[in-house]
Amino acid sequence: MGKRVIVIGGGAAGHFSAINIKDKNPKYQVTLIEKTSKTLTKVKISGGGRCNVTNGRQKPGDLIKFYPRGQKKLYKPFERFNTKNIQEWLYKRGVATHEEADQRIFPTTNNSQTIIDCFEKEMDTLDIELIRNCAVKKIVKSTDWLIYTDTEIRAADAVVFSTGATKSGWRLLTELGLKVTQIVPSLFTFNIQDDRINELPGVSFSKATVRVIGSKFTEIGPLLITHWGLSGPSILKLSSIAALHLNECHYNFQIQINFIGQTAQVWREVIDKLKKVHPKKLIKNYKMNQIPHRYWERLVQKLELTETPFAELTKKKQNRLIEELTQALFQVTGKSTFKEEFVSAGGIDLNEINFETMEAKRYPGLYLAGEVLDIDALTGGFNFQACWTGGWIISEAI
Ligand SMILES: Cc1cc2nc3c(=O)[nH]c(=O)nc-3n(C[C@H](O)[C@H](O)[C@H](O)COP(=O)(O)OP(=O)(O)OC[C@H]3O[C@@H](n4cnc5c(N)ncnc54)[C@H](O)[C@@H]3O)c2cc1C
Repeated sequence: MGKRVIVIGGGAAGHFSAINIKDKNPKYQVTLIEKTSKTLTKVKISGGGRCNVTNGRQKPGDLIKFYPRGQKKLYKPFERFNTKNIQEWLYKRGVATHEEADQRIFPTTNNSQTIIDCFEKEMDTLDIELIRNCAVKKIVKSTDWLIYTDTEIRAADAVVFSTGATKSGWRLLTELGLKVTQIVPSLFTFNIQDDRINELPGVSFSKATVRVIGSKFTEIGPLLITHWGLSGPSILKLSSIAALHLNECHYNFQIQINFIGQTAQVWREVIDKLKKVHPKKLIKNYKMNQIPHRYWERLVQKLELTETPFAELTKKKQNRLIEELTQALFQVTGKSTFKEEFVSAGGIDLNEINFETMEAKRYPGLYLAGEVLDIDALTGGFNFQACWTGGWIISEAI
């Protein structure tokens, strides 16, 4: 008889591990245990129901930049199984994918059910045992691994932990002595109540520089005004790279924005020129390059310049205007979930893991993959990629 392998957690990482272990070792007895009645629930809702399964970037050096936590450790694993490999893996099983302009990759059906159907078919074909509605309550290392559920104790030669960002999974592992880092939310938008942006949802800037005051965190990228504050890639990225810091601030902090990344000096020259070229034109009516006109009008109104032509713009007001364009301060008073696409920063300390096998260093035979680890990424298919890469490496190791 081959090895007995128990995979705990029926999400992306658990399925990918179980399928590849059994595929490579048909004689192994592989069991997947899931505590709820449904498997792959996050895959189902992922990418707005389309499942952003991976990303078009392939080089490990490019990929790791999207992982605020896990960056260095993932370089070598990505050399072994990267974004191209998962597309090939899916293609071999009848799932074609396509890449969008921003390099996100989806199944061509644009339906996450395609990925679920593929995994479920593989589970059936490979005859992998799936136990639903069964929470693992305890695991003990004796000669074998002993897996305790409500109803039975199962013995295994190897255990894969893919319990995602769940307290129960982390508790089981800490009971074994593994360290968990601080768990905080990542990928959220900023709540801001401010006259300058109220009632301007949809107004966006293509390349803003956003800095968290009192920290080293700065991001450059698209910025979007929403009904409740600010969002867009620059904000989501900040929420991820500064996740721990923002949690320490209890999500009450100041940001400084340079809306188009231009220096105050350049703005001064632009406005001085406008004073000469269009002295009689009302400032509010001028279409300022790269500044959405609704925002420009709002700023002009805030600074009480609505009826002022360029010729009458005082030095003091000009400086205030430039300040608002290059170093506007906003008070953030909380966070909101981005399209329900929350991710947790934190998990099992990566120093506990041997990344050549994804095995716990102090427990040979105990493997970990997916969000249970202290690995998280920006949006773009990178979170799933960490699951595929981890699962693949485990299957090779076992
Ligand atoms: C709305 C949303 C959209 C997303 N969209 C994308 C996307 O498009 N692209 C992308 O890359 N990432 C996306 N993500 C992130 C991605 O879904 C996760 O990173 C990924 O699903 C994590 O997979 P996992 O297998 O590690 O954990 P999970 O999918 O959370 O699976 C863990 C499983 O373990 C089970 N479990 C836990 N404890 C036990 C126990 N004690 N016994 C038995 N079973 C247990 C849980 O019930 C669960 O089914 C999205 C996340 C959300 C919330």
